[in-house]
Amino acid sequence: MSPTERPYHMLVKPAGAACNLGCQYCFFLSKEKLYPKRESPLMREDVLESYIQQLIASAVGQQVEIAWQGGEPTLRGLDFFKLSVALAERHRKPHQHILHTLQTNGTLIDDEWAQFLRENNYLVGLSIDGPQAMHDAYRVDKQGESTFDSVMRAWQCLRRRNVDVNVMCTVHAANADHPLEVYRFFRDELEAQFIQFIPIVERATPETLHLANQGWGGHTGANRPLYRQEGELVTERSVRSVQFGRFLTSIFDEWVKRDVGTIFVNTFDVALGSWAGQHNSCIVSPTCGGSLAMEHGGDVYSCDHFVEPDYYLGNIRDTPLGLLARSDKQRAFGAAKYEKLPKYCKECPVLFACYGECPRNRFIRTPDGEEGLNYLCAGYKTFFTHIAKPMRRMAELLRQGRYADEIMQEL
Ligand code: SF4
Ligand code: SF4
Repeated sequence: MSPTERPYHMLVKPAGAACNLGCQYCFFLSKEKLYPKRESPLMREDVLESYIQQLIASAVGQQVEIAWQGGEPTLRGLDFFKLSVALAERHRKPHQHILHTLQTNGTLIDDEWAQFLRENNYLVGLSIDGPQAMHDAYRVDKQGESTFDSVMRAWQCLRRRNVDVNVMCTVHAANADHPLEVYRFFRDELEAQFIQFIPIVERATPETLHLANQGWGGHTGANRPLYRQEGELVTERSVRSVQFGRFLTSIFDEWVKRDVGTIFVNTFDVALGSWAGQHNSCIVSPTCGGSLAMEHGGDVYSCDHFVEPDYYLGNIRDTPLGLLARSDKQRAFGAAKYEKLPKYCKECPVLFACYGECPRNRFIRTPDGEEGLNYLCAGYKTFFTHIAKPMRRMAELLRQGRYADEIMQEL
């Protein structure tokens, strides 16, 4: 594939890092430090049009995804999203299909929003961290108050309108020891079908740990430093490596016996892809660099997890988006994922399913002292080793043209 044909994906922040909540683990809130206080974090309509034009013009394949994230993207207002849909329709080529996606905390979603999202076939990622006590442990508003009821209202509102919703659950100190309670809450109480688990790993240095432990939202957040992917310490909210492995393993054991084919857990689907010889997520691929982030003013960064000055690629008002996304700097960023793997990973029996996971979490040393091992290694190794046999079997069923859910009859 020539560099001009390399596909890429953008996560865009129409309201910058601004958010109406103060989730304690959300270090993205600190990204407002990148821009002067007097500058509005709201994306201008001319930037929106330019972005959509450039994205569509440089897209390869038939599907173009227009993905909004934050901060809290709904702060930009419903009219902005209506305009983005209209612009996408105006600029798309006849063979292109547009997929609209939105990641939201849900607190501003009402019937009008839900109707718009349904009418335009949005795929919505809604953040819920489990039953109330676990959700409210860190997902609080600016005053530190509960957000659970308003998120449940959003969930019901979206379901009433049949909007496709993916539950996005972060895994942290407050819910990581309760995997089945979390999973069953989503499956049995919410009747969710699509679930994604995201480990919270907030890095810190000895100098920033104290402040980081106080959280990134609310009043304490005002003194926060700009979060960077640096330091070998983690906050007390962060999930522990082995704990994350146990969390995934416990849920997998229940899922594989009764929910294959009806409940879709992103980590398990991606793992099945790896056993079938495909890499369906950047974090488990040998290389990455195809998932970039754009700030409200058109600044493009290598990845949503590296919105930092060193990973700035340029602004779409100066350089076409396709050139930024396929630049040498970005290619090198993606190639480093494999090139910087320690020998310990290259010799690992589950390398094909892990590939050292995301570089943002590679800040511990291997047993023989090499730098660059993933903080979550112990957990991932346990998890991938544990699921190997059923995964092999499901991949075999698929190769035979059968269904992966047949495994449930064999266990
Ligand atoms: S840095 Fe991590 S999240 Fe970003 S593209 Fe690479 S693997 Fe994916
Ligand atoms: S499980 Fe650990 S050693 Fe194996 S590839 Fe992943 S991070 Fe590396």
